[in-house]
Amino acid sequence: MSNDSFDGLVPLREIVSNFDLAAQKSLGQNFLMDMNLTYRIARTAGDLSKINVIEIGPGPGGLTRAILKCGAKKVISIERDERCIDALRYISDEFPDRFQLIHGDALEQDIIKLAPAPRRIMANLPYNVATPLLISWLKRAKEFEGMTLMFQKEVADRLVAKPRTKAYGRLSVMTGWLCEVKCEFNIDPKAFTPAPKVISTVVTLKPRAQPLASASWNAMEHVVATAFGQRRKMLRQSLKPLELDLASLGISETSRAEELEVEDFAKLARAFAEKT
Ligand code: SAM
Repeated sequence: MSNDSFDGLVPLREIVSNFDLAAQKSLGQNFLMDMNLTYRIARTAGDLSKINVIEIGPGPGGLTRAILKCGAKKVISIERDERCIDALRYISDEFPDRFQLIHGDALEQDIIKLAPAPRRIMANLPYNVATPLLISWLKRAKEFEGMTLMFQKEVADRLVAKPRTKAYGRLSVMTGWLCEVKCEFNIDPKAFTPAPKVISTVVTLKPRAQPLASASWNAMEHVVATAFGQRRKMLRQSLKPLELDLASLGISETSRAEELEVEDFAKLARAFAEKT
């Protein structure tokens, strides 16, 4: 179980109790208290010695200190909760040149501007904003050397889902189009305070040098959203608003969104973009 003083810094439980960091549900706060796991997540990212890490939501700093102790060149953490800003002074004191803390909402930050390349995003994401954050990063996937992110398992399953499965949907297509995705390991709810109701999964995303197929972000997003908006309907129905000649694109009108590969969606997106 947790042995949170093993890295020579103040035990994590002391930080939480000294700064009265009772978790706030509205901020998606489930603090990872098992330092064996925070170090395991940090090590999953490989050699970080030349990498600027951008961390979302450091909370009391369990993952932050692990990333720093594992040798990241620099860590820039964005945290919304003012209580954590005060609590994290112990990390600024320990790593004055390699740690920068930003008080703000990660949804409103242009994180590219925060650090030069090579940059990597690492986070135990607040579950309530995990998907919009990921979408905003996917749009600029090439700006990142990689991402090491923790999601609810159900979201991680959607990221790696293949066609003809229940979990396959918008998130699977947009992510698979731009990144190679790997589920690394699951984390039991008991490792967190408070324990969430669901299992969490650590995921690695590696941006592809080139997307799986060419298409613009906006057209791809529109086509994919339209198709999965009515996922049980045949494409001739669900894609009707796009007014595309599916047969001429080699796509069966009687198939459903969940049967299409990423390349099929890209083909539809290119045809849609040409028309508009
Ligand atoms: N990294 C810590 C850990 O692993 O124990 C905390 C993870 S907790 C799941 C999510 C953290 O994100 C919380 O500290 C929360 O305050 C912060 N947070 C929530 N919404 C945020 C936002 N929009 N921008 C920045 N931080 C946010």
